[in-house]
Amino acid sequence: MRNIKDYDLEDLKKELIEMGEKPFRAEQIFKWIYQEKVKDFDDMTNISLELRKKLKENYTMCNYNILKKQESKDGTIKYLFDVLDGNAIETVLMSYHHGYSICVSSQIGCKMGCKFCASTGINFVRSLSSGEIVEQILAVEQDTGVRISNVVFMGIGEPLDNYDNVVNAIRIINNPKGLNIGARHISVSTSGLVPKIYKLAEENIQCTLSISLHATNNEKRSSMMPVNDAYPVEELIQACKDYIAKTNRRISFEYALAKDNNDNLNDAKELVKLLKGMICHVNLIPINKIENGAYTKSSNDNIMKFRDYLNDHGIVATIRRELGSDIDAACGQLRRKNLKD
Ligand code: SAH
Repeated sequence: MRNIKDYDLEDLKKELIEMGEKPFRAEQIFKWIYQEKVKDFDDMTNISLELRKKLKENYTMCNYNILKKQESKDGTIKYLFDVLDGNAIETVLMSYHHGYSICVSSQIGCKMGCKFCASTGINFVRSLSSGEIVEQILAVEQDTGVRISNVVFMGIGEPLDNYDNVVNAIRIINNPKGLNIGARHISVSTSGLVPKIYKLAEENIQCTLSISLHATNNEKRSSMMPVNDAYPVEELIQACKDYIAKTNRRISFEYALAKDNNDNLNDAKELVKLLKGMICHVNLIPINKIENGAYTKSSNDNIMKFRDYLNDHGIVATIRRELGSDIDAACGQLRRKNLKD
């Protein structure tokens, strides 16, 4: 049986037509799921009993069970969800002055192998379906009663390694009859899968693209991120320039500062050279030390100097607020967990 949340509205209409139903039924079902947030076909009270029965025979609702919920002192909540096949994923809800933001996972495990990330070193299991991605938002909204206004694909996994499902999930999240979250409030973060960046530029989606850059030259970047061997810095930057030209959207570059590794003013100088002339923003992240990790956080003083150097040289840079670090919910701390551990 397919998960009904795997379908964008247009595909759900096709499904209903195949069942001999009118396409407007798909809109009604969509509204029940994404606006009324019901968990059961039987709660869809303007759908006939007969159609509800057919729906139940053909589709699941894929409601997640919460295995664990941890709340940080700063209000950040980390969820461990049972994805209903013996696996579990983590999702984080953050509260900002402008609203609630959710950090979703796109895969169970990750293949990228970034040296500083907690999702590395655990076996990759599989990609999540669109419905399994979207369900993270629904489950958190159902649990807390809050309305989420921002979605970032920065949880476990490489979103562009699960391209079709992530793009389809974005369409469901963005659809005014779906979760109705504006595309500009949706960010996709990638370690730099160059061919997929070119592909994403061709989709008609106005989402924000974040690039996990972290270093400015190939030697350093490859030592932190093996993906750089396949797609070196110059190819990555060229793909970003193409993305900006095609979409007219600003790119956000993530740069996690690790002590004595990529955090001195020479690195800042190289970064200015690399990004000069691009419509972009640099997000500086104080690197979070992971278990047995080789990298440690730069000093606050260094981080501020780095930011000031970029800003003084025409690159807009901000330091990311650290949320949820006391519950291992900050950047790069999420990991796939087995139900058993
Ligand atoms: N695979 C995607 C999305 C997941 S990681 C990507 O690589 O972009 C989300 C962000 O957290 C990325 O920018 C990643 O580089 C960063 N990150 C990973 N581990 C980190 C750590 N230990 N400290 C700070 N940021 C980290």
